[in-house]
Amino acid sequence: MELIEIKGVGSKMVEKLNKHGIFSVFDLLNYYPYTFQVYDLGLVDNKGTIQGIIVSKPVIRFIRKGLNSIFFKVESSGNIYNVTIFNRAFMKEHLRIGREVFITGTRKNNKFTASELTFQYEHIKPVYKLNDIAPKTFRNLIAKVISLRENVEETLPAHFIDKYKLLSKSELIRLAHNPRRVEDIKQFFRRSKYEEFFLYQLEVKSIKRSRKSEGISIKINRDYLASMVKALPFELTSSQKKCLDECIFDLEKEDSMNRLVQGDVGSGKTVVALLLMQLVINDGYQAALMAPTEILAEQHYKTVKKMFPSLRCELLTSSLKSKEALSRIDRHEVDLIIGTHALFQQDVYYSNLGIVVTDEQHRFGVDQRKAIERKGIKPNILSLSATPIPRTLAITLFGDMDISTIMEKPVGRQEIKSKVIDFSKVKNIVSFVQERIDAGEQVYIVTSLIEESEALKAVDLDKVNRWVKNVFNAKVASLHGRMKSEEKESVMSSFKNKEIDVLLSTTVIEVGVDVPNATVMIIFNAERFGLSQLHQLRGRIGRGNQDSYCFFVHNTDNELSLERLKTIEGTTDGFKIAEADLKLRGPGDFLGSRQSGFPKFNFGNVFEDFKILEVAATDADYVVYNINDEKFILCKKYLETLN
Ligand code: ADP
Ligand code: MG
Repeated sequence: MELIEIKGVGSKMVEKLNKHGIFSVFDLLNYYPYTFQVYDLGLVDNKGTIQGIIVSKPVIRFIRKGLNSIFFKVESSGNIYNVTIFNRAFMKEHLRIGREVFITGTRKNNKFTASELTFQYEHIKPVYKLNDIAPKTFRNLIAKVISLRENVEETLPAHFIDKYKLLSKSELIRLAHNPRRVEDIKQFFRRSKYEEFFLYQLEVKSIKRSRKSEGISIKINRDYLASMVKALPFELTSSQKKCLDECIFDLEKEDSMNRLVQGDVGSGKTVVALLLMQLVINDGYQAALMAPTEILAEQHYKTVKKMFPSLRCELLTSSLKSKEALSRIDRHEVDLIIGTHALFQQDVYYSNLGIVVTDEQHRFGVDQRKAIERKGIKPNILSLSATPIPRTLAITLFGDMDISTIMEKPVGRQEIKSKVIDFSKVKNIVSFVQERIDAGEQVYIVTSLIEESEALKAVDLDKVNRWVKNVFNAKVASLHGRMKSEEKESVMSSFKNKEIDVLLSTTVIEVGVDVPNATVMIIFNAERFGLSQLHQLRGRIGRGNQDSYCFFVHNTDNELSLERLKTIEGTTDGFKIAEADLKLRGPGDFLGSRQSGFPKFNFGNVFEDFKILEVAATDADYVVYNINDEKFILCKKYLETLN
């Protein structure tokens, strides 16, 4: 049945529904309120809703055109109120003595001025993210559809519905739009959270299971490793060595590797990954390194070219994908392939892929892993992340990851001096920054990308651009997300080559960019960024041996915002910052949409609902191991639709 076939639904309504992602009756039935409003009866500070019986005939007064009032008396809990409500003359017929009414408004002594009057009190109202469809209209629509289709398809095995006494799918839909009691809301969320965690985990666990069966075991040549380590221009930290050992252990065993390496920006994760990839290559395989942005991919490519010039390496991005390159990969004429998500597009074939390293893994996640495995290979997977997540959460969320942490930083790193400053005082740092420029050092200036509606309050790229050109005697260039990648690349390389003093940018420089001569960073609208993001940004400086300075410029007196900025001013420990971010902003923002590879859940919160997540993970594991059991046929079908 099509939406348009529903009685009372016209093309206008269909259009509106489409705008909210509702294209079918199925979508409609799976569209839920995102929250509920509960109205309690009673008055607080003489405002609220009372329930009573009409005890006098209503009297109407027409005050002037368009304004009338209706007056009557109501008895409620032994009190008599003189009720006045405006512009309800049309209700007169219905206001009969003895009838029960619910009136919402303000009380003054025994006078009650009402703004709303109903005969049927709705204690709980579902709230939808539908700004252009009245809730009532939407609920009527749902009611119609439910009455048409008695059989709503269940998505959870009856086994678990019974076990946890969850609402059935049809009960869920009914109660979601017509909750009667607070308990209904509770049950609505209980089922919804479990369901989304369970279905997500089902996917994760099935990937895990398929990986277990066919792994690639790598023969490690330790002499070769020793010679590579010896050739490095620095000594590996003991954290790096430990991490290397853990990864080698994974590579040697039969099951494929799936390890997450966490460590602050600049802690030396990439170096470890490069060594591991060469070990895999040395055993006759290809290796792929996947970066979240083209800039970063290009940078990795250059690093590799510089550190290991003899390695047969290919850069592959969406804008750089020639037939020749693809055939070199297919014919194993290159060993290391570096790129963006383009690495796993359909037209890319590997001859013998042994390891995939994903940099900044929180940007990838399950979807990318599926894309890799769709190529029919089950390589070892190593994920690098500078955003620390608590261990137990990472394991549960991603199903099966092993985790290594690089805690210590390479020696000789300069501490970055950080300062929070009010926007109105930004002129105070101009001469200091100019001195750094005159001394031949370089500067990053970062602004947040802003939405039009916020443009008045925020300092945007154009404004900052004018300001910079005005106050500094320097060569300035800017970088933003809408630029073509060749343009970005050319700006970045002129910055690297010191042809530019000040690089003005939106957050496109967030990850990985390495310019040791850059010693100053000014971040405008710092209050708009997450702490972990600010920390990542700041990690762009302090990479050389000069002192580095980071200025967090804000435009707020919000106390919470200021407190957050104080945290980042006070520490450069990424784990501490992540923790503070979690505490101050809540996990929703911490794992928010900006870090888009992280699974997004509509109802569940991986921190607050961790228990449910754990249970769902265990159940999903059980199902995956018993997938041919008749009672899990539903799950089997679901997994088939995903592939
Ligand atoms: P991450 O990937 O964790 O951000 P990188 O591996 O890119 O860190 O290392 C950052 C910089 O530090 C690079 O220039 C790298 O060559 C250098 N580096 C890595 N490990 C060490 C070490 N043990 N001692 C000194 N410098 C190091
Ligand atoms: Mg890195």
